Amino acid sequence: MLNIRRDVKAQSPKKEGKIKIGKPKQVAAGITGVRKSFSIGISEAGLIRTMKTMRSVNKFDGYDCPGCAWPDPDGHRSSFEFCENGAKAFATEATKKRLTPSLLSSKSVQEWSNFSDMELDKLGRLTSPMVLRSDSNFYEEISWNDAFDMIAESVMNLNDPNEAVFYTSGRASNESAFLWGTLARQIGTNNLPDCSNMCHESSGVGLTSSIGIGKGTVTLDCFDKADLVIVIGQNPGTNHPRMLSALANTKRNGGSVISINPLLESGLNRFKHPQEIIRLLGRGTPIADAHFPVRIGGDQALLQGIAKVVLDNDGVNHSFVEEHTEGFDDWVEHISSVKWEDITKQSGIEKEHIIEIGNSVINANNMIICWAMGVTQHENAVATIQEITNLLLMGGHFGRPGAGACPVRGHSNVQGDRTVGINHNPPSSFLDACERETGITMPRDSGFDSVEFIQASRNDKVRLFMALGGNILSAMSDTEEVANSIRKIDLTVQISTKLNRSHLVTGKQALILPCLGRTEFDQSGFVTVENSMGVVHSSNGNLEPASTSLLSEVGIVSGIGYGIAGSDPFKWDEMSKDYDKIRDLIESVLPIFSNYNDRVRQNGGFYLPNGPRDGPTWDTPSSKAIFHSNSIPIRSIKENRFILMTIRSHDQYNTTIYGMDDRYRGIYNSRRIVMMNRLDMDDLAINEKDEVQITSHFMGRKIVSDNWKVVPYEIPRGNLAAYFPEANVLVPLESVAKGSNTPTSKWIEVSVKPQ
Ligand code: SF4
Repeated sequence: MLNIRRDVKAQSPKKEGKIKIGKPKQVAAGITGVRKSFSIGISEAGLIRTMKTMRSVNKFDGYDCPGCAWPDPDGHRSSFEFCENGAKAFATEATKKRLTPSLLSSKSVQEWSNFSDMELDKLGRLTSPMVLRSDSNFYEEISWNDAFDMIAESVMNLNDPNEAVFYTSGRASNESAFLWGTLARQIGTNNLPDCSNMCHESSGVGLTSSIGIGKGTVTLDCFDKADLVIVIGQNPGTNHPRMLSALANTKRNGGSVISINPLLESGLNRFKHPQEIIRLLGRGTPIADAHFPVRIGGDQALLQGIAKVVLDNDGVNHSFVEEHTEGFDDWVEHISSVKWEDITKQSGIEKEHIIEIGNSVINANNMIICWAMGVTQHENAVATIQEITNLLLMGGHFGRPGAGACPVRGHSNVQGDRTVGINHNPPSSFLDACERETGITMPRDSGFDSVEFIQASRNDKVRLFMALGGNILSAMSDTEEVANSIRKIDLTVQISTKLNRSHLVTGKQALILPCLGRTEFDQSGFVTVENSMGVVHSSNGNLEPASTSLLSEVGIVSGIGYGIAGSDPFKWDEMSKDYDKIRDLIESVLPIFSNYNDRVRQNGGFYLPNGPRDGPTWDTPSSKAIFHSNSIPIRSIKENRFILMTIRSHDQYNTTIYGMDDRYRGIYNSRRIVMMNRLDMDDLAINEKDEVQITSHFMGRKIVSDNWKVVPYEIPRGNLAAYFPEANVLVPLESVAKGSNTPTSKWIEVSVKPQ
C-alpha cells in the first residue's frame, strides 16, 4: 500500500523537440516582446479577457501583476503597465481552459506525471477541491467541508505540533500570509518555510547584519538620479523586465550601468521600450556601459578588489563612515591584506578591469548596487552581500535619493509575506504582539526553513505538510531526495490555481484546494502586497472567477483554521467576511502599518519605514551600520570538473514553464541544455548539440543526470549553465549558504561525460 505511487515522476519527462541554436539577441523587449505579450494573452484568455487583464494590471485600482516584485511608478501609471513576462503570468492565470474534476480524475497521478511541466500548466485552472486517498492513484472530488475536516483530523492525530509544516509561496497576499502564520502558531509551531529560503534569504541575513534591515533601501525614482548602477548576478531582461526601463532612465539622465555576471544577458545590452513607439522603431537604448564576465562564485573576490581600488585612491566618504559606521578600520586592514593574485584568480577578472570598475565607483556621487540569485545562492552568499554593503557604506550611499542597496525579488509578494510574519525564526517582539492581539499562545522555538523541512521529513518527523501556493518539489534543490521525503508524509495539502508536479508527488494522502487568482474578483474586497521597494499597495482583480467553487486564499485559510480551532479565542469565522479587519489586526501587531486601511486606499499605497533609506538610521545593537570583514574563499575543484549554475529561460517564470524557447539567448525547442565555453568543448571533444551526462559531486555524494545537450555559449571557461528546475536534481540538499541555509544552486561542482 505504501508504495502505491512509486512510479510518479518527480522530474519533468525528457520529451523535447529538435533543438535549434541561433545567435543571442542584441536587443531586449521591442516589437517582438509586444507581439508575444498579445499573442500569449489571446491564445490563453481570448481577446476580451486579455484586454481586460491588460488594462487593469498594476493600475492604482487594478490588480498586482502575479509575476516578479518590481515596483510600479509612484505618481502615475501608463495605459499598459506590464512586461512580456507579466503578460505571460496573468494570461495563463486568466486562461479559459479548465481542469475539471472529471478531467483530473480521468488519469492516475502516474499518467499525469508523464506530462511535462509545461503541459501540466496548459491544462488550465483547477475548479474544485480534490482528494487523493491513500489506496488510490486517482484524484476524486471532495467538498470543502470534508476537506477541512480531513485537515482537522490530521492535526488532531499529530504527536507533536512540530510535525506540521506550513509552506508559503511569494504569491500569497499580506492578509492570507498573516492568517497562515497565525494558523501555524495556533497549532503550536513556527515551521513556516517559504520560497524566500531558496532565493533572497541570504540578502535578508546579510543586509540585517550590516544595516539592520533585511530589505533594499532604494525607490524606483532613485534610478533616475543614480550616476552609477551596478547590476550583479542578475538577468533583468527575463526575470524583472521592467527594471530595464529604470536602467534606461539612468542612462538617459547621464548615469552609467555596469553589469557583472558570468553571461552577458541581452537585456543589459540594448533595450527597446515597449511603451515608447519611437524607441520601438529605433535601435533601442544601450544599457550596460561595461560588462565583466565574473567567474561563477567570484563576486566576493571581485567586490574586495573594487574595495581595494577605492581605498588605495581614498575614495572614502570619511564623514559618513565616521558618523554612521563601525568596524571600518578592521575592514580596511583586512582588505589591505587580500592579495591581488587571489582576487584575479577567484574572480576571473583582470586587475586593470577591476581598477576600471573601482574608478567608476570613486567617481559616483550616487551609486545603486542591484543583485539577485546570482549572488544569493552560493556558500559565501551572506559574506558577498556584506561586501556589497561595505562598498555602499564606504561611499555613504544611504539616506539620500539615487543611492542604496537593491536586492531584486522574484516573486510578487515574497517581501510582504516575511514582513507580516512568514518567518520560521520570528522575533519575540512580533510573537508578543501576536499573542496580545489574537489571544493565541505563540510557540517560541524556531521552526524549519525549506531545507530543514525536507531533512525532517526524510527522518519521518513531518506528518502534515500544507502549502499556500507554489510548487515546492520543483523549486527546491535535490529533486529526487525531496520527492522521497515528501512521499513519507501522511497528508500533503496544496492551495493552488493550477496543477503542478507537487500535486503528483504527494504524501500518503493529498488534497488540492483551488483558490482565486490575482486577476479575479473577490467579493470580500481587495488584498494588499508589498513590492521589492517596500511599497504596500492594493490588488483588486476584476475577472469572473474560473469556477463558482473557488474560495479566496483568505477563505481557505480561515476555513482550515475554523475546522481546527473553531472561533475561540481567534475569530476564524469572521476573517473572510471583511479584509479590513485583517488589516486592522496586522496594524495592531505591526505598528509600521499605521493607518493601514486608509493609506492603502491612496493611489499607489504607502512606503513602509526604512531606516537606512529614510534617515539614515540603523536598527543594529550599536545603532551604527557595520563593516564586516570576510576572507575570500579560496576554492578549487578537481581537475576536469566544472562549476554549474542554474538559470531561467525567457519562456518561464520561476517553476512555471510557458514555452520551450529562450529567445534572448537564441536557444529553441529544448530545455535540457547545458551551456559551455567552446574551448572547454574542444578539450572534451564535444560538439554542439551532443548529449552528455552530468554528475554532481558533494562531500563524497554523487548525483547523475542524463541527456543534456551541449550549447556553445560565451561563458567563462570551467563554468556551465543549465535551466532550473530541470538542473535542481543536481544540487545536493546539504549544499547550502552559510548563515542563510539557501541551496547553492549557483555553485555545483560537476563532471561531464559524453553519452
Ligand atoms: S516587471 Fe515583474 S511585476 Fe512588472 S509586469 Fe513584468 S513580471 Fe510583472
